[in-house]
Amino acid sequence: MAHATPAPLTQLSEEEGLFYSTVQQYAEETIGPQVRAMDEAQQFAGGLVESIFGLGLMGIEIPERSGGAGGSFFDAVLAIEAISTVDPAVAVLVDVHNTLCVNAVRRWGNPAQLQAWLPRLAAGTVGAYALSEAGAGSDAFALQTRAEKVAGGFLLNGRKLWISNAREAGLFIVFATLDPAAGYRGITAFLVEKDTPGFTLGRKEDKLGIRASSTCELILDGCRIPEENLLGKPGKGYKIAIETLNEGRIGIGAQMLGLAEGAWGHASRYARQRRQFGKPIAEFQAVQFALAEMATEIQAARLMVYNAARLKDAGRPYVREAAMTKYFASQVAERVASQCVEIFGGNGFVREYPAEKYYRDAKVGKIYEGTSNMQLATIAKQVLGGK
Ligand SMILES: Cc1cc2nc3c(=O)[nH]c(=O)nc-3n(C[C@H](O)[C@H](O)[C@H](O)COP(=O)(O)OP(=O)(O)OC[C@H]3O[C@@H](n4cnc5c(N)ncnc54)[C@H](O)[C@@H]3O)c2cc1C
Repeated sequence: MAHATPAPLTQLSEEEGLFYSTVQQYAEETIGPQVRAMDEAQQFAGGLVESIFGLGLMGIEIPERSGGAGGSFFDAVLAIEAISTVDPAVAVLVDVHNTLCVNAVRRWGNPAQLQAWLPRLAAGTVGAYALSEAGAGSDAFALQTRAEKVAGGFLLNGRKLWISNAREAGLFIVFATLDPAAGYRGITAFLVEKDTPGFTLGRKEDKLGIRASSTCELILDGCRIPEENLLGKPGKGYKIAIETLNEGRIGIGAQMLGLAEGAWGHASRYARQRRQFGKPIAEFQAVQFALAEMATEIQAARLMVYNAARLKDAGRPYVREAAMTKYFASQVAERVASQCVEIFGGNGFVREYPAEKYYRDAKVGKIYEGTSNMQLATIAKQVLGGK
């Protein structure tokens, strides 16, 4: 019996290959020269967000009829990977917007919400995703932000913490509880526009890594949301959060993969140039083995990221793979970035060279969208069974 041979996981279609190299080239040429200044200024360069929208990278999975690129989740993963090779901080903007905000709207938005929001999210409105609070991180469903039903809509009161894209965003998906006594079954998602009275940005965090990406507190003080901004059904916010974060984790895996690839590229180029004992350090077997080990780990992470994304696009179960991917790729990123610092020697320890920034940026991969322990908890449930 003749069998069709499945394509190797890392084999990109012609369109995927072209898309990846276009984004990579944009990242090298446009983002690359600004990376250090943006890290130091703790903000994106003027015009950068607009240029990312201009390239179509903020509407990757939004249908063409709504102004998007009509691409796949795998395309979004490729874009996040390609940008992260140059600047993981810029990749967070694209990642949170596409894999969390746009996907939540696409999946749970009613026809009027899709019509109102998808064209804006594709064209110029940055999206953010507000689940975490001071007392609700790993235990996200312990959130305290209150939603109260009032005539014609809802009143939101509370504070959100750690919200990526907050300074740039025009639309926030905010999770609040309609009924604290109902536990996770009270959690409800709302579409909150930046200019809504009662909604303000609080403190902006001064971070170890991905410093150009804004991470802020949100303050909801009598913030009145019209009825039509309820996303999904009352009490179903927990489902929206779980499902978007499952998908988002593959995006973070891609960010960590790209970061590791970027660090490896710098380390290997530096090793060929830097001479000690009369020859390039790349001629020492110890340095070669370090680079070989890094490349091997990167390849393993790439296979996991691509497999999880392709499973998602194929409509197959991917929760276990997504958690494993984020868990593993964030470890690889940290190890590769650390080794990159060492290959650069003293130059790895100073800001003039790129190594130290990759090292700082890698750390967050083990923290956001579920810490490594939370990924292990998901993986354990999946592989051992039980509730
Ligand atoms: C830069 C950045 C950007 C972020 N962006 C967003 C965003 O856009 N939107 C958003 O909603 N959130 C965002 N977050 C929040 C992020 O998701 C949380 O920080 C994360 O979920 C961890 O929560 P926590 O910080 O409260 O840590 P905690 O939950 O307090 O965890 C502290 C430690 O305890 C461990 N731990 C906790 N519970 C358990 C357990 N049951 N078993 C074993 N170990 C446990 C954790 O693994 C961790 O090591 C962001 C965070 C950062 C740092």
